[in-house]
Amino acid sequence: SYVLGIETSCDDTAAAVVLRRADGSCRILSNEVWAQHDDHAAYGGVVPEIAARSHVERLDATIEKAVAAAGVDYDQLAAVAATAGPGLVGGVMVGLTAAKAVALAHDLPLFPINHLEGHALSVRLTEKAAFPYLLLLISGGHTQLIRVAGVGDYERLGTTIDDAAGESFDKTAKLLGLGAPGGPMIEAAAVGGRTDRFALPEPLKRREGCDFSFSGLKTAVREAAEGIPSPTGQDVADIAASFQIAAARHLAQRTEKAMGIMGSHGEGRLVAAGGVAANCTIKKMLQQLCAANSWRLIVPPPKYCTDNGAMIAWAGAERLAAGLIPDQAEAMRLAPRARWPLALHEDGGKLGSG
Ligand code: ATP
Ligand code: FE
Repeated sequence: SYVLGIETSCDDTAAAVVLRRADGSCRILSNEVWAQHDDHAAYGGVVPEIAARSHVERLDATIEKAVAAAGVDYDQLAAVAATAGPGLVGGVMVGLTAAKAVALAHDLPLFPINHLEGHALSVRLTEKAAFPYLLLLISGGHTQLIRVAGVGDYERLGTTIDDAAGESFDKTAKLLGLGAPGGPMIEAAAVGGRTDRFALPEPLKRREGCDFSFSGLKTAVREAAEGIPSPTGQDVADIAASFQIAAARHLAQRTEKAMGIMGSHGEGRLVAAGGVAANCTIKKMLQQLCAANSWRLIVPPPKYCTDNGAMIAWAGAERLAAGLIPDQAEAMRLAPRARWPLALHEDGGKLGSG
């Protein structure tokens, strides 16, 4: 089945068409992403009103482009899927409303998708990752360990108690004057930096479980930076490298605990998704962890790690194939959700969440 997916929850205006074959394999026919970085550059962060306006201006063209590039007609589509939250409500409103319009105009079922489910299943766009697997979701707004048992069947094992991993990269980059987006800037700045020059704390060292914390690291980095009045390029590289390795270690340590909880149920598959999963130091650390435990690490290509329409289309396609078809009257009435935890059974699994 061909499914159109629309993603507007943050600062990327995105639409895509995917094909899910009967055997569960996927073909991505188009994946249009219109990043808004330039619109927000002057403000040092994403401005919700500007994001919503940019989505309004660009979404129609992005959808048209995705459908045209896929080489399909609207009447060949089996469904339309759109992010319904969590995210900036103004932006989500734009995408969800557009999806409702497409669904009405072409008589298609509408799948309101939890953005986190999009990230959780994104690995299956390009890999035959069987359920269950352990998911380390590391994005700009979330840091979670989730047992993915099936489509719509998620159990949260851990989450951040303060900042998200991506947020900590973004804040640290800003502090070091590196600009946005922070993750890639830190990664680039850290090349050639010493990882052992600054002794950064190990978050939640004495705390059991799989939760994360990044605010202590951020504070320690600020103190380290303040200790150097006029930093050289090498100083910045050293701080960036020290921060990056500390964040990677923390992610790996908590993931190891979750692997213990999963036991043999995980069948030895760790999936890392979300923008931060594009980071090579983090990938390497997770790779070592998996190798030591005879697990397999699977990371989607970077363009499917960060926000994209294909993962939203795919979540819709997986739900359609699983028979998890939302009540259409409810879907059409659904309002965007700023908050929407993935692993809580708050709506009986009817609306895109497990
Ligand atoms: P959410 O899905 O939680 O709403 P989001 O969609 O904004 O958040 P993503 O697009 O998945 O998040 O990822 C963006 C985040 O990933 C940013 O915080 C960015 O700094 C970070 N990131 C991107 N590339 C890298 C990298 N190479 N290293 C570290 N972090 C990175
Ligand atoms: Fe995201």
